[in-house]
Amino acid sequence: MGLLILYTGNGKGKTTAAMGTALRAVGQGFRVLMVQFIKGSWHYGELDAAKMLGEDRFLIRPMGRGFVKVGTEKPSPEDLEAARKAWEYGREQMYSRQFQLVIFDEINYAIHYGMLDVAEVKEALAGRPEDVHVVLTGRHAHPHLAEMADVVTEMKQLKHPFEKGVLAQRGIDY
Ligand code: ATP
Ligand code: MG
Repeated sequence: MGLLILYTGNGKGKTTAAMGTALRAVGQGFRVLMVQFIKGSWHYGELDAAKMLGEDRFLIRPMGRGFVKVGTEKPSPEDLEAARKAWEYGREQMYSRQFQLVIFDEINYAIHYGMLDVAEVKEALAGRPEDVHVVLTGRHAHPHLAEMADVVTEMKQLKHPFEKGVLAQRGIDY
């Protein structure tokens, strides 16, 4: 049975860890899909790196709309629609047997903000084809997903340059 791996917590490194796993898997001849729930049109280095490896080996699909407004505001209908499309696409591909590793990047965030139903996600993960490994990332992992996962790692922030006012660095953060 494929593993369910969950990277959560407030520290930096969740998406990076998922991409490290992807690199390792590609080296073993796996085909890898990463569906990104938050990232949209902004340009990230990983998109070009995946193209260099070949999209037949590592396919990244940014399907988000950038950061959703948080706090008291509810996600907009457009955000909900984007999250649903990303989920339905990723779920379909997870069942297609075309990929041995499927990464749902920032899906925790989408669930936390009520954009996806955790029960539906759990059910789809439980019924996936045997040999498919799955990585879920994002802050605020739902306890039901943590309970179900085989690997749960919480990135704990001890320091981040953002606290000193240092903004995102090219090649490191994007
Ligand atoms: P990364 O993509 O670098 O592995 P992440 O997936 O753990 O980070 P996210 O919550 O997805 O973290 O954050 C997205 C962006 O915010 C990234 O550019 C990341 O470097 C940055 N970031 C991560 N953690 C922090 C933090 N504690 N404070 C400020 N910015 C952060
Ligand atoms: Mg991330």
